[in-house]
Amino acid sequence: MFPQLAEVTSLHLEKRGASPIQVEIGIKKGLPLFHLLGNASQSMKESRDRIRMAMEASGFSFPMDTIVVNLTPSHLAKKCAFLDLAIAIGILKATGQAKFSFPENTIILGSLSLNGNVLGERDLLPLLWFRNFSETDTVILPGSLRGEIIPQGNYIFLESLSDLSFPSTVEKTAKCEIPLIGEPEESWSSAFLSDSQSAALYQLCIAALGRHHTLLIGNPGEGKTMLAKMLSSLLPSWTKEEVESTFKGSLSTVLYGRALEVGKRPFRSPHHTCTEQSLVGGGTPIQPGEISLAQGGILFLDELGEFKEKSIESLREPMEEKRIHITRVNGKEILPADCMILGAMNPCPCGNYGSKKLCNCSHQRIRSYLRKLSGPFLDRICLVISLFSNDEKRKVQIKEKDMKQKLEDSFQFRQERMASESWKRKPNLIKEDLLEEYCKKYKINNFSFRKRRDWMSLSRTVADWNLSSEIEGKHFLEAFEMISSGSWLQEFC
Ligand SMILES: [Zn+2]
Repeated sequence: MFPQLAEVTSLHLEKRGASPIQVEIGIKKGLPLFHLLGNASQSMKESRDRIRMAMEASGFSFPMDTIVVNLTPSHLAKKCAFLDLAIAIGILKATGQAKFSFPENTIILGSLSLNGNVLGERDLLPLLWFRNFSETDTVILPGSLRGEIIPQGNYIFLESLSDLSFPSTVEKTAKCEIPLIGEPEESWSSAFLSDSQSAALYQLCIAALGRHHTLLIGNPGEGKTMLAKMLSSLLPSWTKEEVESTFKGSLSTVLYGRALEVGKRPFRSPHHTCTEQSLVGGGTPIQPGEISLAQGGILFLDELGEFKEKSIESLREPMEEKRIHITRVNGKEILPADCMILGAMNPCPCGNYGSKKLCNCSHQRIRSYLRKLSGPFLDRICLVISLFSNDEKRKVQIKEKDMKQKLEDSFQFRQERMASESWKRKPNLIKEDLLEEYCKKYKINNFSFRKRRDWMSLSRTVADWNLSSEIEGKHFLEAFEMISSGSWLQEFC
């Protein structure tokens, strides 16, 4: 007797994108066996029982014959459970239980629960984004993904396998509108700030422009958190190129977070009790941490002194490399982590150091408080902005619209400069001889190598802020002043 045959298509995520997988089903009379061929992982081999339960719970019968499932191309190692649904539909087709007919080019994605529900978390989204669907393609997706940001196409959403007992409807989704110029949720329109607050905001804008890691140290009530929040709404919009590279260039689940936040740059503000894993990523399967979710934006660590030392230390690698390597038993992944880290903390345990109020903290106590930030971590902080309370009465009005426009213009300028110049790959690299010249000129010789490099790259950013393609003396000087403003910290570290 000839075997009953069927073939369906699914997708598989691999290094270079999403490639189609043909799922061939052959059923013939014989012992009730289930063979999964084509480089399927051990975990996929468990799918048999899941598929069987799901089919029976949905009112279909699972053939008690020899079933051969062949996945091609066979050179790809297949380990995802998203093939469950494709295999189940293939079996239904082969055994003639299917009452449905799908359009010709149908791609099936989804896993199954024992009661027949079609599952698929947002992990599925990268698969959709990496695949350029043609107009004739139809994609079968779990119902839970209805309403998510998905590419333009034809979709059939299935809640449960039993939905296949009825004819299914194809829903066309419109061209995916990624809002490129997303308005931030929290808008402050205008604010009255003291001179030192507005100076801090100005420095924060420059730091954000160049994504320089920054520490905001100040007495309680001086508006550290307020300034950070104000900055979040000033961040420039994503450029089309950046959205493209974030969506297509990185093969990680960060897409999941990004898909939701695209349009406006992320401003992530994890609580100080968060674990190391939630900060830098990890787990099984590997999930991106806050630092990756802040890609392109700001990771704000309020009350930095309260974070666990281990968590702070774990940021060292990504701060430097702008990406993070996560190795776990079940694999390793490189996640992007190119964001500005902005920490905020009090200067001492009581908070009054540097202000007119009495600070009861001994030198030793302040020292051990600030010591929580290790030397290597502080080394990676480019800018320390101090915000000590004083008797300033004058308030200046800052308009959100103006600041935002300024940052947007500078950002545009910086992007264009970096694209046109030969140091595109290393935007902050500046000739060593130029550095020497300025060190001599300003009689600076106590900067460490890293500090000098920070100074250089901050000077470049200051020049960008002023829309200048050359770094002029005044830019070096301004950057030098900014960098030196945290030098009081050295007394304690
Ligand atoms: Zn104190």
